[in-house]
Amino acid sequence: MWLTNNFRGSAMTTLAYRIGSAAFCLVLAAVSLAQEAPRGDPAATEVWEPEPIAVAPGTDGAPPADAIVLFDGSDLDQWQHRDGSDVQWSLEDGAVTVVRGTGDIITRESFGDIQLHVEWRTPAIIEGEGQGRGNSGIIIQQRYEVQVLDSWENRTYSNGQAASIYKQHIPQVNASRPPGEWQSYDIFFTAPRFAEDGSVTTPAYVTVVHNGVLVQNHVEIEGPVRFIGETSYEAHPLRQPLQIQDHSNPVSFRNIWVREL
Ligand code: MG
Repeated sequence: MWLTNNFRGSAMTTLAYRIGSAAFCLVLAAVSLAQEAPRGDPAATEVWEPEPIAVAPGTDGAPPADAIVLFDGSDLDQWQHRDGSDVQWSLEDGAVTVVRGTGDIITRESFGDIQLHVEWRTPAIIEGEGQGRGNSGIIIQQRYEVQVLDSWENRTYSNGQAASIYKQHIPQVNASRPPGEWQSYDIFFTAPRFAEDGSVTTPAYVTVVHNGVLVQNHVEIEGPVRFIGETSYEAHPLRQPLQIQDHSNPVSFRNIWVREL
C-alpha cells in the first residue's frame, strides 16, 4: 500500500512537471510572437486631419505657388523708402541695386512668421575692405538683421560677416561665393511674441541657409540689431515690414519672395 501510494505520488509529480514545462514553453512562444507582430489596431495612431494643402513647388529657382512675390525683376511696386517715397534704387536686368544715400527700402506689406528667399550679389570689382565691402542687410521686421557682406577672403569680426545675425550670432561656416556672383539666403523666421505689459513671451528665432548651406540653426535673437552696445527687446506688433539696407555699397538683389507661416 505504501509502495503503491509512493509510486502514484511520483507519477503525479512527473506529470505536473511536464505540464509546467509545456506551459512555460507556450508563454515563451506567446512572448516571441508578441514581439514579432504587435497586437492592436495600427489605424489607432494614424492622423488624417488636417490634410496639408497641395502647393506646387517652384522649379529652377522660381517661387512656390503660395509665395508672395516681393520682387521678380520687373518692378518695385511692393517696396518704398522708409518715408513712404518711391524706391530710387536702380532697376536693371531683373535686379535692383542700392543707390548710395537714397536710404533703406521696406516692403509695403507687413509679415510675422515667414520663410524668405532672397538672392544678392556684391560688386564684382572689389572696393573697400571689412565692413565697407559689399555691405547691406536683410532687416527682418525692421529690427533683426541677417548681414549681407562680401565675405569672400574679406576678414571682419565673425559676428558681422555674411550670414551673421549682426552682432549676435556667428554663422556656422562661411558659405560665401566670390564677389560678382549671385548668392542666396533662405531664411526661416519666427517672430517674437510679447505680453500685454510689453514683456517677452517668446523671443524671435531664425534659421538661415546660405547658398544651400545651413549656417544659422534656429538661433534665438536677443533683440533688435545694435551697432553699439547690448540689445534688448521692445514690444512691437506681430507683423512688421521687411527692410533692405543701404550701406552705401552697390549691392544687387533679385528673386525675392516670402511665404507666411
Ligand atoms: Mg549690413
